[in-house]
Amino acid sequence: MATIFSRIVKGEIPSYRIAEDERYFAFLDINPLAEGHALVIPKKEIDYLFDVDDETLAGLILFSKRVAKAIEKTIPCKRIGVAVLGLEVPHAHIHLVPLINESDINFFKPKLKLTTERFKEIAEKISNEFI
Ligand code: 5GP
Repeated sequence: MATIFSRIVKGEIPSYRIAEDERYFAFLDINPLAEGHALVIPKKEIDYLFDVDDETLAGLILFSKRVAKAIEKTIPCKRIGVAVLGLEVPHAHIHLVPLINESDINFFKPKLKLTTERFKEIAEKISNEFI
């Protein structure tokens, strides 16, 4: 069965899309630790990040770098934190989280509740900065 992220890529489930190309897709995490918290995935469905083939993994990191640069330009922060968990969704993904303090990337923290309008606004702004 397709993962929830593959269904997002196909447009079967809506998402706040930031960027995509033939191989990668970036969108806002629905339960963000901070405004601008994004997920970057390979479209190829592979559960565990470190099972991803070298070429796809290298491309995923480079695509994530471009997304991180776009988030930096949009969300006030000191830098973009990177995390890989994968305990919930079995489709390799990289979390990008804007950081001011170390605690901003604490996954035990209560997640932000944002309105649909705010999610859309953030995704659009980041998307506009994506090059
Ligand atoms: P992980 O697998 O890295 O432990 O957690 C999966 C992440 O994906 C969580 O931060 C969760 O909020 C996010 N997530 C799960 N389902 C959806 C979804 O349907 N849409 C979006 N945008 N994010 C999701």
